[in-house]
Order: sequence, then structure tokens, then C-alpha cells
Amino acid sequence: MLLDDRQSTGSLLEVQGLKKYYFMNGSFGKLGGVKGTVKAVNEVSLSLYQNETYGLVGESGCGKSTLGRTILKLIEPTEGKVIYNGEDILQLNRHELRPYRKELQMVFQDPYTSLNPRKRIGQILEEPLAIHTIGERKERTDMVMDILRKVGLQVDHYYRYPHELSGGQRQRIGIARALVVNPKVIILDEPVSALDVSIQSQIINLLEEIQAEFNLSYLFIAHDMSVVRHISDRIGVMYLGNLVEEGPNDLLFEEPLHPYTKALLSAVPVANPKLKRERIILNGEIPSPFNPPSGCTFHTRCPFAMDKCKTEIPVKVEVSSKHFVSCHLYESS
Ligand code: ADP
Repeated sequence: MLLDDRQSTGSLLEVQGLKKYYFMNGSFGKLGGVKGTVKAVNEVSLSLYQNETYGLVGESGCGKSTLGRTILKLIEPTEGKVIYNGEDILQLNRHELRPYRKELQMVFQDPYTSLNPRKRIGQILEEPLAIHTIGERKERTDMVMDILRKVGLQVDHYYRYPHELSGGQRQRIGIARALVVNPKVIILDEPVSALDVSIQSQIINLLEEIQAEFNLSYLFIAHDMSVVRHISDRIGVMYLGNLVEEGPNDLLFEEPLHPYTKALLSAVPVANPKLKRERIILNGEIPSPFNPPSGCTFHTRCPFAMDKCKTEIPVKVEVSSKHFVSCHLYESS
């Protein structure tokens, strides 16, 4: 299905003005007395359409994981809405949220830390089915065997323990655990970053296959632009808790708008020398989201910063069809 067709059917999940702030009251840590706010996620809005992959990129610490977890209410939001099935799921209590937990799943970078080392893979995969009261015991075993095959493992993996598996196999289990309850959306948080490059492509291929088979929507979080380019239909670029640019994959890569996106892309190696971009080196390190810079938070590193960038927060502008940027360079004055 083309991206435009998917978008015409309306979004499956809509994030509206989501914020996650950590308030430091000065009573903790070696720096006792330091007060301020960590703006890990700062008013992010995005839509996820059926059967699409939305890639979320940005340097480490820019708030990608926090955004993913806050969308699923694994972390309590500070403000904002997540509309799914016409309902703001952030307003629901644990009990009310339960049916949605099945439909909205998450896959983590290293599933090993969340796989109980004392349980066999079969038990681990049957657990979510039991929690959501799906099937009888025998049926659950059959379902798990079936899912193991779907993620490219064998039936005998059912009897193994997590430590007996390789990194790639463990990530297949992480995917199987999300998939077994038949979700509609999966948030994948750096799902291939801990794997060797050859294994990364196997897992990416698997994700693409199961997306087509199960009609899934992915929010794919990664810091690696090449991986995101390969898998995504649309891409959002985050900087210090803000979504600074969003657009269809080809537009974002071929005509990046935000100076930050341009700098990120200039660091990605390209095979075709004609397409080689001039490397843009940004000034300094990414600032901390603890009391972040005023105005446009990127102004401290931006080669094009103007006076108003220091004081005024840029508004989101649609520069071409579905290609958005938040930068004063693109605002009509
Ligand atoms: P990313 O996934 O892009 O690497 P994160 O979402 O993990 O970024 O973190 C965003 C920012 O929020 C980081 O600066 C991190 O230090 C901060 N942060 C995350 N969790 C907490 C917390 N519990 N308390 C204070 N700051 C936090």
C-alpha cells in the first residue's frame, strides 16, 4: 500500500503534545542543591498510520526511548495525549489499559535483561498469552510453537533457556514475545543496535516480513540513519526532546531541511560519490536536556543561528507535502 493511501485512511495512533519532564528539586545526588527540569520529551506530536514504519532518529540522549515508553504509559507522562481507537490511553487506569497493552507492544534493545533466566523460552512466550487469557493451555503451546517458526526459530527452542541463545536469537524471542498476542502496533527501541551488522540485516528482514504478514505499524527508534533509511516510510528527527523535522523517507534524505538533519545526514557514508555530501561538523556537544537552551534549543550549535533563534521557539511549518520542519529559516516572517 502506498504511503498516501495509508494516510488517507486516518491515523492508527496519534501522539499530541506529549511531554515528559523530570523535576529536580535539589535534594538528590552529589550535586545536591541543583534544581531544574530535565525536558526529556518536549511537546512531541506525531501520527502513526496503519502498516507503516515511522523511524525516529537522533543522537543518544535526545529523548527517543523516553518518548517510546511514555506513548505506552510505561513511563507516566507530564502532559499530552495518545489517541488510540478514539480514546486517550494516557487517561486510562491499569485495568482500563489492559486490552490496549495487548495491541500496543514494545521490543527492547536487549531483551536478555527482560527474559527471566530461570524460565524456558516456551514459558516466557506463554506468559503474555496467560496474562491476556488467550487460549487454553494446549492451544497456547501450539501458538508459541507457531510463533517460534514465524520468527525463524525451531520448535526445540521452546525448551531452551535464554542464556543458551545467541544475541540474534534472543532478539527473535523479544519479537516473538511482542507478536504472540497479535498486536497492531510495535514500538521497537533500538532493536538491532546491540547486534553484529550481519545479524542486524536478518532481524530487519524478519521485521519487514512479519509487518507484511500481520499488517503491523512500527515506531522504529534508532540512532543509526542507515538502518532507519532502510526500514522507514516516514522519519522524524529528534533533538533535545523536540521533533525538529518530519517527512517521507525519500524527501527527508534527498532534501533535508533542518540544519541538524543536514548535519546528521552528512555523517552517513554513501556508496555513490556523486551523492556525497559535504560533512557538516556541529559546534560542541549536544547540550543537556537539564535546563535546555532557550528559544530554538539547537541555536547553540547551529551554523545559521540568528538573534531570534535564541529567544523564540520555532513553529512547525509544512514546507512541501507532509514534510515538516521547526526552524526559523523556513518561517515566512
Ligand atoms: P535516547 O533514547 O534518545 O538516548 P533517553 O530517552 O534515554 O534518550 O533520555 C533522554 C534524556 O532524559 C537524557 O538526557 C536522560 O539522561 C534523561 N532521563 C531519562 N530518564 C531520566 C530520569 N529517570 N530522571 C532524569 N532524567 C532522565
